[in-house]
Amino acid sequence: MINNNIQTTIKAINDTFNTLSGLSCDDLRIKFNSIRSRVSEGEANIDDVLVDVFAIVKETMRRFTLGCIKVKATQKDITLAKCYDFVFSDTEGNALYQHRWNVLGEKFIWNMVPYDEQLQGGIEIHNGRILQMATGEGKTLVAVAPVVLDAMNGKGVHLMTVNEYLSKRDFEITRPIYSFLGFSVGCIEGKAIHSSRRKEAYNCDITFGTTSGFVFDYLHDNTAKKASQCVQNKFGVAIIDEADSVMIDEANTPHILSGDIHTYINNNENPYKKYMSLVKQMTEIDTLELYKTDTLRKNVSLTEQGKKWLANACGCATLFDNNLYTERIKLIDANNSLTENQKIGMIAAERNQRLAQLKMQDVLYRLLTAFTVYEKDVDYIVSGNSIVIVDPNTGRLKPSYRWEYGLHEAIMAKEHLSPDMEIENIIGSITVRNYLSLYKKISGMTGTAITTTNDWLDVYGLEVAVIPTHKPVIRKDNPLRVFATSKQALVAMLKEVIKLHKERRPILIGTNTIKQSEHITEFLNSKGLKPQLLNAKTLSQEAYIIAMAGNLDSITVATNVAGRGTDIKPADEALNVGGLAVIGLGIADSQRIDKQFMGRTGRQGNPGSSQFFVSCEDKIIGFLSGDDKNELERLASHADLESGEIIDNRIINLFLLAQRNKEEEDRNDRMETIKRDNIIAPIRLRLYGARMQLLRQTSKSTVIGNDLFGFWNDPVFISSYESHKKDFEEKAMPMVERALLNSASVDVCAPLPFIINGKIFNVICNFRNAVATQGSSIGDDFERQILLSTIDEIWFGFLNGINNPLIQKTEYETKYKKIFILAQERLKQTLLSATLPVNENIKNNNVTNDFYSNSLLCNSTCDKIGIEDPCPCGSGMPYWKCHGRLNSL
Ligand code: ADP
Repeated sequence: MINNNIQTTIKAINDTFNTLSGLSCDDLRIKFNSIRSRVSEGEANIDDVLVDVFAIVKETMRRFTLGCIKVKATQKDITLAKCYDFVFSDTEGNALYQHRWNVLGEKFIWNMVPYDEQLQGGIEIHNGRILQMATGEGKTLVAVAPVVLDAMNGKGVHLMTVNEYLSKRDFEITRPIYSFLGFSVGCIEGKAIHSSRRKEAYNCDITFGTTSGFVFDYLHDNTAKKASQCVQNKFGVAIIDEADSVMIDEANTPHILSGDIHTYINNNENPYKKYMSLVKQMTEIDTLELYKTDTLRKNVSLTEQGKKWLANACGCATLFDNNLYTERIKLIDANNSLTENQKIGMIAAERNQRLAQLKMQDVLYRLLTAFTVYEKDVDYIVSGNSIVIVDPNTGRLKPSYRWEYGLHEAIMAKEHLSPDMEIENIIGSITVRNYLSLYKKISGMTGTAITTTNDWLDVYGLEVAVIPTHKPVIRKDNPLRVFATSKQALVAMLKEVIKLHKERRPILIGTNTIKQSEHITEFLNSKGLKPQLLNAKTLSQEAYIIAMAGNLDSITVATNVAGRGTDIKPADEALNVGGLAVIGLGIADSQRIDKQFMGRTGRQGNPGSSQFFVSCEDKIIGFLSGDDKNELERLASHADLESGEIIDNRIINLFLLAQRNKEEEDRNDRMETIKRDNIIAPIRLRLYGARMQLLRQTSKSTVIGNDLFGFWNDPVFISSYESHKKDFEEKAMPMVERALLNSASVDVCAPLPFIINGKIFNVICNFRNAVATQGSSIGDDFERQILLSTIDEIWFGFLNGINNPLIQKTEYETKYKKIFILAQERLKQTLLSATLPVNENIKNNNVTNDFYSNSLLCNSTCDKIGIEDPCPCGSGMPYWKCHGRLNSL
């Protein structure tokens, strides 16, 4: 049901739309431009012009269906005509907008005028709601009118979706409409961070991209060293397609930007390779209870016996004896027959041994995890010389993601690939939830929102609007069929496939893993059927496979990848025999994913059917409580002797309960991640805000210093710092002048080598400004860069410090304060002591910008620090994992 208010608005849109057909195309644009100017000049707000704008968009779309649209060419049209195939310019000064153009290399014909339900969807997007619109109802089209409306404000509209294929497709489909109305449209693609193409895309009125692309650009921008590297500039409106996937499924994995990497010089140095076969051997012994695994939650733990076995196998009996080190140190300390120097030497030796052991434990644990709970072609695939993560929800690959803290390296070693590097630390992290909170308005679209209404409200404060389908749904969704064993479920499913195939219906078979999809394909091939296989490995042929999937006699075996995205269009003959039959082997981790999959058929009022086959051996059963599992087993004992089928509604309900339990568990994880990130958010905003101000120099460094650090206000500090600053500015001037005089080619900006704690820190200074300001800009440049370094030091330190599941949320504040105070002290000392060298002070050419990692750890500090204490560099990591790290074992 459409509510009255919206119904009135839709009627008004249609009434206005009917008045527009008499306008020439030029007049249509003139009318639109005049509304746009009223909005941009603040004479009208977008709510006032919604009806007119939606009507103009609808009329524009109608004209695109008719053939070529001729208008007087503007400069923008002429520029577009030089680059794209959807508009041409003629010799008489006209622009000819086409009715067909290329989308992802294929011919595309515009044939869409929005239905009332689509207008309703557009209005709800404008209202900032999450739309539930069934698959196939045309969400791509729905977004256009609200995007146009918001783009008039000039504050940027970002359209996000799950993968580059979909974002690029929707970008290319709708670009001509936006362009006709005078908007610039861009799409962020690929991985070229800080690139000018990316910046251009962000400068457009409307920007398409994947959510991850947007989030990572934000994190990258906030590690930029120069303002010119930043690509994002406005956070106006975000509209998220496949919103449940992006905003719900992804919500429990924050986006993490990794920093330094440790590169292995040669393979012998690589501990994962070194211990791989030993751990493999351990997993092959099944007579001893060496470890416990929880495959559902991907956890593994060593038993006492397992620790002994590993310690023995590594030839290091004390490997897991974590108290021994402290005891030994105590003994050495208490031994009066030793001299101080002897003690220092012995303690250092003990420390090194302990460091090696801790690292070894870490490596062994990761390898064991890799071998026992991560499976090839389920959790990841091997592609060339690397492993690529498979997203469990979408079935798609995540090539730019790595598992953290050695797990990725361990899996590479398991697959006999050579990990040549290890990610060392985190330099940025944010959840989608908190990234989206940067926008003034957000809304989303998905086929399945209503089952997670609470999440939308609790996590995002968004309401769900359910949009009716344009035509009634006549798809037949059959009840779950349950079998005792997975083999029996498979056999029954295959029988059903053969039966449907005889009826010539197109069939889409859904599986939960790549492995299973390959297995079924092989089997069908062996029966003389010719299935197409669509999974993360065959995605390059996605468009072709999907295009064929609706034909008579076609069989497509797929993973979750087929659950979203491109439309499967059933051929007319296929509709006559009952339409596409969707068959699922096993149910997914959430009802939403199953519903998405079912929605592949019966679109737009077409016939179709869905049927899922499950077995009591399915993984999802692991999410039932003990009592429910017993009940399941009891019911399973009544299975049909021949087929293994259990026909009983109670068992169906247990499967649905297991799925709900899993959803609940995921929801709790999500809330936990979000709660954690909510504590971090104000810190991130504060530091990022200050950082951006420094980069863009929108405020003087002293003002930002004042805002962040208490001491900067202190008059005693100010007076000594001011005189110190004068001093180094004076020292710098002759250098600057000499450089400018001696070399005509000195860049305007060049490094001045400051000495901080005996090390060189290059401050990039504007030499010409320095001359113009008689040196005072040097102090400004110095302050700005030292502050930037300090902010990064605090932020990275904090992120790494809390990157440990054992650290409670309540400890975050204390951790932050500790790191902050340390960094503040160092900053104060730096500001008062940094100086410029007279030439002979530079002892070597080891000029470095790496202020925090090189300048802070002098040997004397290292000697004092316990190996399990926080590293004095402020990273927050234990010393042994950070600067105390041994390069080899
Ligand atoms: P969704 O994202 O909701 O699954 P799509 O945007 O992929 O749907 O559209 C599904 C199909 O419906 C597309 O082939 C599109 O061309 C068609 N379609 C959508 N809206 C209209 C319309 N108003 N008129 C004609 N065809 C439409």
